[in-house]
Amino acid sequence: MATIPGNPRGSYLLVARTTATQDIHIGRLGSLPMEPGFYVYSGSAFGPGGVDARVRRHLRGDKRLHWHIDYLLAVSDEIDAWYVTGARRECEHARGLAEAGGKVHLAGFGASDCACTSHLLYFDEPETIDRFIAANHLRRFEQQSTKRDETTTV
Ligand SMILES: [Zn+2]
Repeated sequence: MATIPGNPRGSYLLVARTTATQDIHIGRLGSLPMEPGFYVYSGSAFGPGGVDARVRRHLRGDKRLHWHIDYLLAVSDEIDAWYVTGARRECEHARGLAEAGGKVHLAGFGASDCACTSHLLYFDEPETIDRFIAANHLRRFEQQSTKRDETTTV
C-alpha cells in the first residue's frame, strides 16, 4: 500500500543518524570517513513508482547495494525520510544544505549526473536539518525503516 497516495514524483531527503566512526567503502567512488552525527542525502524520484516507491526501497533493509546511499544506509542506526512532490529539487536541496553548514565528507556522492559537489551533507547536530526541512516545506514520510524489523513482507 502506498504511503503517499497517487505515487507522485518528487524530491526527498533521507536523514541517517549514525554513531559509528569508521571508513565505509562506497562502490567505486572511494571511502566515506564516517563520524557520529547526521548524514542528509538529497534525491529525487521521477520513475513510475514516484517518490513513494523510491523512499520505500531506501528504507528496506534487505536489498542489494546499488546506489551510493545504499552503502551508508546499511550502517546507519536510524533513517528518517522527508519529501516534497512536484518539480525536481534535489540539487537545490543539496546546495541549500551545504549553505546551511552541511559538510562534504565525500565529493561526488549521489552527484554523478549533475554539477553539485555532493548530494550527501554531514551535520553534527539535527537542529539545522530540522530548520531546513521546515523552511522548505518537506513532509515526513510516514514509514519507519525496516532495517531492524525484517518481518515486513515485500
Ligand atoms: Zn546535484
